Amino acid sequence: MQNVNALTEIVPGLCLVPGENNGRFPFAHSFLVEGATRALIDTGCGARVIAALQREQAVDMVIASHSHPDHTALNWKFDGAPIHAPQYSADTFGRFDLLGERFTEPGELAAAWRNYVGAMMRYQTALPTHTFADGHVFDFGKVKLVVIHTPGHTVDHTCLFEPTHGVLLSFDIDLTSFGPWYGHRESDIAAFEASIRKLMALQPRVIASSHKGIIADDVPARLQRYLDVFDARDRILLELLPRAQTLDALVNASPFYQGYPYAEKLLRYWEGQMIRKHLARLIEREVVAERDGEFAQRET
Ligand SMILES: [Zn+2]
Repeated sequence: MQNVNALTEIVPGLCLVPGENNGRFPFAHSFLVEGATRALIDTGCGARVIAALQREQAVDMVIASHSHPDHTALNWKFDGAPIHAPQYSADTFGRFDLLGERFTEPGELAAAWRNYVGAMMRYQTALPTHTFADGHVFDFGKVKLVVIHTPGHTVDHTCLFEPTHGVLLSFDIDLTSFGPWYGHRESDIAAFEASIRKLMALQPRVIASSHKGIIADDVPARLQRYLDVFDARDRILLELLPRAQTLDALVNASPFYQGYPYAEKLLRYWEGQMIRKHLARLIEREVVAERDGEFAQRET
């Protein structure tokens, strides 16, 4: 069983809390500020890890990077503590009844989302008590964290920058080998690219992400490679389109996920959303054309 001894210090007063399953989805790493105030940033690290943290000492406040359930599932365990959430999703944040529709489609898919998230992540409704926006500073004395709004993954995705040591908590701009994820209607490739560039301009020395952990080497090149994935996916998709294909056929080919090992309905939907976004920009660039519901490379 994991316990709080497994905390990894990033800088004095700020630790990474390793998530179950090594922080891989449906879990994520959390972060802990320890000082006069004990603040937990994200709660998707798993029930056993949260229980161990709470046994050691009470958590005074919870901060959420964005509204995805693998970051917020256990906010309900902190009844009575303030929950700070990005203001960009204040209408749905923490609401189990509404998030399924926001992250999939009303009806069967939203029900499948609630089943999956309820069973796998033990998600329960927990409403924020405070909201924050870009530029807000969480001042814990020794540790100060500046909110950077970084939409694209979701509309409300935020990062936290610790300027003294140049540490960036980048959450789901996660620098994993999978690359950026943008499978919702609200997700947006151009916004995501701009958000990555915004982070590059901060010139962080160390990045700690929700699914990859602490990265201290090669940070600028890693951010660039992560940004390059969007163009690489354009090319992957184009290679599937010398002949006209329907969206369904493209989803069957699973060019980005490379298969659907679990929650197939949801993964297919999300990959479909990602494919649509690439098709839209390839159409705008006049490299792909749509005809009768099929997509193909344009004749040059
Ligand atoms: Zn996320």
